[in-house]
Amino acid sequence: MSAIPFHQPFRTGTELHFLQEALQNGKLSGNGIFTQRCQAFFEQRYGFLKCLLTSSCTDALELAALLIDIQPGDEVIMPSYTFVSTANAFVLRGARIIFADSQPLHPNLDARAIEALVTPRTKAIVPVHYAGVACDMPRIMEVAHKHKLWVVEDAAQALDSYVDRGGGKVQPLGTFGHLAAFSFHDTKNISAGEGGMLVVNEPALINRAEMLWEKGTNRAAFQRGEVGRYQWMDVGSSFLPSELTASFLWAQLEQLDGIQATRKALWQHYEDALEAIGCRGMVQLPKIPAFARHNAHLFYLVCRDLETRNYIQHALYTHQIYAACHYAGLHSSVFYRNQYKGKPLPNAEHFTHSLLRLPLYNSLDFEQVGSVCQQVQRAVEEKRIADRLAV
Ligand SMILES: *Cc1c(COP(=O)(O)O)cnc(C)c1O
Repeated sequence: MSAIPFHQPFRTGTELHFLQEALQNGKLSGNGIFTQRCQAFFEQRYGFLKCLLTSSCTDALELAALLIDIQPGDEVIMPSYTFVSTANAFVLRGARIIFADSQPLHPNLDARAIEALVTPRTKAIVPVHYAGVACDMPRIMEVAHKHKLWVVEDAAQALDSYVDRGGGKVQPLGTFGHLAAFSFHDTKNISAGEGGMLVVNEPALINRAEMLWEKGTNRAAFQRGEVGRYQWMDVGSSFLPSELTASFLWAQLEQLDGIQATRKALWQHYEDALEAIGCRGMVQLPKIPAFARHNAHLFYLVCRDLETRNYIQHALYTHQIYAACHYAGLHSSVFYRNQYKGKPLPNAEHFTHSLLRLPLYNSLDFEQVGSVCQQVQRAVEEKRIADRLAV
């Protein structure tokens, strides 16, 4: 059997066609035809109020932190179990990060625990939709309204994920917060190599967002013919991707439905196969809240403990199947642990030690998913025997 890598970026085959079109358009700098086409696509399909493509989700988060005027000493609540960029964007503006614990059964932060972390210095909540699985957004927005806080969704992994609002209605992630940040990094469902997007749902922020995006100028308004010349209006930076990136992204967006259907089928195949095997006590399958309609971004196991995780990961590795752990809780990172003054976060620690991601990408087939599951089963059985012998 040939090796099964952890990840393989998906290519539609139409990228060169659209890159060529971008070249023919003549202008490769930002906010061109493809940028506007991608932004309009997202606004129409998901009902995002205003979309701005950025060169990464990291960039979109930094733009968000500027836009809501984070000042030194402001407190920002976010999960510890997340990527560094979620925190860095706010730390760069001098914020104090208040890390929230994950839920016992899911890496997402516990919406019920947020209110206890709010102080007079709290400025924003940054929920992260881990694996494209929705946080309890209606509840988080309720807390935010009550305490007049900004909400910035880190939706890096959550394109095409929804919250079920009942009565056959679903609401896309990225439409709940005042702002939301998406990623088109090569490891995400839709890729531009590197790329991202800021969604602005708060009407009062749109004008300024556009200026900060364009280096603190009103160039976007100038381009629309609304002003005769553009000039320095505000702080800002260069957050725009070039048309090369936007045209590549467009090739992927054109095939979004197909990409998503494939990922969902593979995800379901993992769940069905591993349910059938039954590894209870040793590994748990992802627990999806009833209100979440996720986008099959990741399939992961939650192992009993670190030792079991390492055992299974190594056993898969010996069969050339590459599984990967994920975040180390940011509150105990080298950079932040000496500044961290909060309580222990046992659930974030648990996922740091026990979570193992299995290969999931468009070129994977059902047979390969079957092989991965078979090897997981074998590893679990071997580990059970090893445990018994050790007693
Ligand atoms: C991928 C990711 C990011 C960063 O995205 P980039 O586009 O690589 O900057 C931020 N937050 C989360 C939760 C992510 O998964």
